[in-house]
Amino acid sequence: MQNKKTESDKNMQQYDFTKQPSILIQGAMEIETDYLIGQLEDAVCVAVGNWKFYTGFLGRYREPVIVSRTYQGMVNASADTALGLTYFAPKAVINQGIAGGHDEDIHLGEIVIGERVVPMGAVMQEFRAKGVGIDPLGFEALPLEIYDKVKQTTAKVLDFPCDKELIEAAERVQTDIHMHRGVLGSADEWNNQIDWIAVMRERYQTSSEDMEAAAVAQICRSYGVPFIGIRIISNSVVNGEDFDESVALCGQKYIQSYVEELHEFRK
Ligand code: SAH
Repeated sequence: MQNKKTESDKNMQQYDFTKQPSILIQGAMEIETDYLIGQLEDAVCVAVGNWKFYTGFLGRYREPVIVSRTYQGMVNASADTALGLTYFAPKAVINQGIAGGHDEDIHLGEIVIGERVVPMGAVMQEFRAKGVGIDPLGFEALPLEIYDKVKQTTAKVLDFPCDKELIEAAERVQTDIHMHRGVLGSADEWNNQIDWIAVMRERYQTSSEDMEAAAVAQICRSYGVPFIGIRIISNSVVNGEDFDESVALCGQKYIQSYVEELHEFRK
């Protein structure tokens, strides 16, 4: 028995995260990643550039995962993703954390499983001449250029669908938390004007807003790696629900169960 355990420990130590399958789990802040990092067995911190990646095994199937703190915002999140995908080549990326609610039917502590992700800050304004004044509604969504590694060509896209299998697995998680399927809007923005949020919902059907998911989705699309964004609502100005970042812990516990649901993913 003792020998067997030693043998399995040896195997796990030999697991090469740069060559063997893993799932990359991201969160922007310490409060969104600390619990997951603490749950890792055989955790090893690998620094790549300015970002840290914690490799280890999570949950009852000892799923090989990499937990990384992206830091806040679109540029940080895309850099973390490009480095993580290049160095570890994970089989899937989960971008998770807290978000602001856009939909009155979604409340503090509830989860939005991203069906698609929209870069809601990418806009092309209509022309208006000098002195005519400003029209905040005079804009269209600006398609973003992506390099598609699989097709080896560029394309312009307006949004990023999340991976269907990853969505279905997220909905199978047994939890007391109320789950919604929805659209995650991302930008380097924190919107508090309720009429502006109504415009985002009208244009992009956003369920929530965050500052990273679309940037990560864009890089994953480029690399052809399955992606999902999952957010737990920490504030909802449309429902008068004040910011409570402590929900980030419930979000991470949900992600821990989710990883067990992904045990058979792309085996
Ligand atoms: N006290 C924190 C607050 C940051 S909250 C601080 O250290 O600055 C911002 C982070 O939470 C971002 O990473 C973003 O993804 C997410 N977020 C939560 N609510 C948001 C909202 N209403 N709008 C935009 N991002 C939000």
